[in-house]
Amino acid sequence: MTKPEKRLQCEPTGYEFSAYFRCPQSGVVSKGARTVLFILLVILIPFLIYAFLQVKSLGKDEEMADAIYEKQMETVLFSLNQYADDRMQQWVSRLSDKSNPVTDNAADLVLGNESIQLLVLRNLSTRTDSLCYSDYVAGSPGNQAEIDRWYNENDSTIAKLTSYLEAGFQKIQAAGGLTSIEGLNPAQTAMTVMTYDKDSALYNALFILNPNYWVETVLGAKMQELSQDEFLLAVMQKNTSEQDASLIYSTGEFDASHNYLERLLWILPETYLAIQSKGISYSELIGNRNRTNLAFLFFSIITILIGSFLIFQNARKALKIAQLKSDFVSNVSHEIRTPLSLIRMYAETLMLGRITSEEKKQNYYQVIHRESGRLTYLVNNILDFSRIEANRRTYYLTDVDMNQLVQKLYDTYAHTFLENNIDGELYLHPRSLPILADAQAFEAALSNLIDNALKYSTDPGKVTISTFTRDGFACCKVTDQGIGIAKEHHLKIFEQFFRVDDALTQKTKGTGLGLNLVKHIMEEHHGEVTVASKPGKGSQFTLLFPITKDPI
Ligand code: ADP
Repeated sequence: MTKPEKRLQCEPTGYEFSAYFRCPQSGVVSKGARTVLFILLVILIPFLIYAFLQVKSLGKDEEMADAIYEKQMETVLFSLNQYADDRMQQWVSRLSDKSNPVTDNAADLVLGNESIQLLVLRNLSTRTDSLCYSDYVAGSPGNQAEIDRWYNENDSTIAKLTSYLEAGFQKIQAAGGLTSIEGLNPAQTAMTVMTYDKDSALYNALFILNPNYWVETVLGAKMQELSQDEFLLAVMQKNTSEQDASLIYSTGEFDASHNYLERLLWILPETYLAIQSKGISYSELIGNRNRTNLAFLFFSIITILIGSFLIFQNARKALKIAQLKSDFVSNVSHEIRTPLSLIRMYAETLMLGRITSEEKKQNYYQVIHRESGRLTYLVNNILDFSRIEANRRTYYLTDVDMNQLVQKLYDTYAHTFLENNIDGELYLHPRSLPILADAQAFEAALSNLIDNALKYSTDPGKVTISTFTRDGFACCKVTDQGIGIAKEHHLKIFEQFFRVDDALTQKTKGTGLGLNLVKHIMEEHHGEVTVASKPGKGSQFTLLFPITKDPI
């Protein structure tokens, strides 16, 4: 069994004032809006993904740049350490010079290098020491005991260095654990190395240095060269038990409270090489740049979101207007078709000459007259609208009496009130109300209001028209007891093509142009149109024209 086909009926059911179905076309708007939304999303989503990936990669970039920078700083420190080691190796090679006895070499070395305060040479087979003091310091009797203590405690170090030497590697070792030796400058640090004398006797050399002087004379120039404009280099001493480091030397205003990288100096105990970037640190620089990038990215996203929202809104509006226009065309066709078919039908009947009763004939003439009036009104509205759209509507303002215009128009409607079973009432201000107006435009505005009052009234109903003055304005109010208008539509009803989308309104015919025309006419007369209305309680529309003279 086949299912009966469902058809949507969009045509009028009949011509004679029958209610017609309206195509439920509002879905077209939401479909169009959905398409726009979809296109926007297609554009937006890759951008958002890109932004997300950028935000993620920013952190990684920072880490990577930090790592690279740290490596660079480490390289600088390494080369400085290497340099210090090389310089020491030069001393050690002079000490190990086999052409002289090691003690002579030691004496020469101390004599030529002021940073060496004391050089202890211990013959490891006899366990005897030769002490070489720099010329500006003097030995003290307790010193030998301290030196012995150090050797006793560092047997394993000596053994290790000896095994390196035997393997052909003359390693210079930082010598920690030496307490301050009396009679020397209190700034002391030490390093040790093994060497052979010319007769192959094994010696240990313990260098006691003035670190400040040594760093300045031996490392200073190299540090200046390495630091260039980019870095600050410093040498610091810190005891493992002490938190604070004491700065021995730096190539500039080294700020220990800022980020810096430090590495132990290979050849001296508790001495560190430190490096930091000049001014703002590199990671801070990257952090700042990333923050700026992020802010810019978020700003761009927000701009794009706002832009998309506005595009979406505009597109929706444009679609809505397109929809309203298409509704308008269908509404106008229906509005025109109804009176036309009536006129044609009644005229044809009259032409056939079948109507004999004079009364019936009069009745037919009246219908033809009324319907052609209706057509004129409709066409005038559309023409006015198109003139306004094209900016071609001109107004011929003359001094007129509002009361007279209202009275004239009310009289033309008397018959229509009767026909529609509407009780019409007119209350005119007792004095004439002089205004500057285009009489035709005034008539068009007021007839639109009266027409609406009739259209949206229930049968039987009442429409009241009154004129009065308020705050220097001559006012004309049209009150009905019809279906009323919800508050949220009070502004919209003055927009082009807008019709309230409810069953009661849709029952009546209309183009959605009338009130827009009224608003335009009132603006051109430096007046305004106001509305007061509640659903089910009727509506009041008031036209306000500036009074030109005192009412007489
Ligand atoms: P239309 O040709 O649809 O009447 P208008 O511009 O004159 O166009 O009015 C716009 C809409 O305002 C109407 O569709 C209707 O919903 C509402 N409206 C206007 N006047 C009245 C009234 N007196 N009572 C109730 N609703 C009204």
